[in-house]
Amino acid sequence: MHEFELVIENGTLVDPERNKITVGNLGICRGRIVAITREQLSGRQHIDAGLAVVCPGFIDIHTHVDNGLDGAYAMLKQGVTTAVGGNCGMGTGDMAGFFQPFEYGGFPIHQLMFAGESFTLREKAGIVNPYQPATAEQIRQIAYLAEEALEQGAAGISFGLEYAPGTSFEEIAAVSRVAARYGKLVAIHTRHDGWAGLGAIKEAIDVTRLTGAAVQVSHLVYMVGMGMMADAIRLLQEAVDSGLDITADSGMYHAFATHIGSAVFAAGCVEKWECQYSDLLVCTGPFAGERCTKELYEELRSNYPEELVVAYVGKEADIYTALAAEFVMVSSDGGLGSFIPGTGHPQNVGTFPRFFQTMVRERQQLSLLEAVRRCTLLPAGRLGLKNKGRLKVGCDADLVIFHPARIKDCAAYLGDGRPDAEPAGLECVIVNGHIAVRQGELGAAVSGRSMKVENRCWNWM
Ligand SMILES: [Zn+2]
Repeated sequence: MHEFELVIENGTLVDPERNKITVGNLGICRGRIVAITREQLSGRQHIDAGLAVVCPGFIDIHTHVDNGLDGAYAMLKQGVTTAVGGNCGMGTGDMAGFFQPFEYGGFPIHQLMFAGESFTLREKAGIVNPYQPATAEQIRQIAYLAEEALEQGAAGISFGLEYAPGTSFEEIAAVSRVAARYGKLVAIHTRHDGWAGLGAIKEAIDVTRLTGAAVQVSHLVYMVGMGMMADAIRLLQEAVDSGLDITADSGMYHAFATHIGSAVFAAGCVEKWECQYSDLLVCTGPFAGERCTKELYEELRSNYPEELVVAYVGKEADIYTALAAEFVMVSSDGGLGSFIPGTGHPQNVGTFPRFFQTMVRERQQLSLLEAVRRCTLLPAGRLGLKNKGRLKVGCDADLVIFHPARIKDCAAYLGDGRPDAEPAGLECVIVNGHIAVRQGELGAAVSGRSMKVENRCWNWM
């Protein structure tokens, strides 16, 4: 009898591609699924799933992991086996330098990388002030840098328009046309949040309409989760129905976190969000755990611009409204910040468990199959990953085993609990055929790699 490297027995196998749930065993060799059967298999290592769910590893399309080990381990512990970094216009501009250390393994999870436009490429083109528009020559230069990054394996281009208010539509369109030629994604953290966020979503729709680029609208709940989500989803649904190549992602928390020194927290933000200074909670650095006053806000803006602050400005119901739409995938926005134990944002470790806990079990808004599709096959299709996000012979053995009745986010905002508390109900995470996490304990293998994305065409539907 053939001996596999790893056998998973008695799994409730959730396959989002065939849209089927069956019970069976998996045989894994050299990082691939090589057998799916009801027959008994023999392996060097066995995991008895005990009828827990076995599904493809989660793919997080919106993170800031960017070669950061702490962020990657947090992802892994919530079942993410592939994360896309370089979002919101941030991240390294040096693609070769990004891929080199982990191209053949050695990272906890697999990662893809966007080239960040709003910070990185703009700065490389000599634009130091985010409020400054690019000249025609600088736009040409940015488009050239974008092309170079795509040639070197970037999965797409990301914008953080809210962080770089000087960005013209012309600049966005020039870069997006390059991405369209490569058949790669343009991820857009839109220009405004709150009520102005609806107009900003129209701008993102215009990007795909006018350039033909495939657009991914980033972390919806953090942009339009302040009571206008239903309107935002309606706009996006109309765009999807009219055949435009646009999808979106959204998180599981209604309070976002970003750098206090950024344009997001510019003077007037409290008035814009119709909130109080005390709705801003410092979550990293020497003031971690403190609520803002006007004085502390100004002190942080001037002297601690890199610290992360959580803004309690969202409405919980908008989380669920966003994720009800079939074109919305789950994303964490995780990986930013310093990862000092006991600080940070719960999204780093709790997003995907919270998705199954609330959307499937507590609210019964999504079937288990549909929920798995949103975390696996849908982002895989969007990123052109043909061997991930599927439970099929020949596909990559990146897998999650979890208990649907028990999976639970245990992390909480600072002040309410530990932001880095690990989730419950996850049995095992397998990366590239190796056990990476088992019952919360890290395995010895570090077999994830940085993946270059080749030119390609695909269709998400
Ligand atoms: Zn963002």
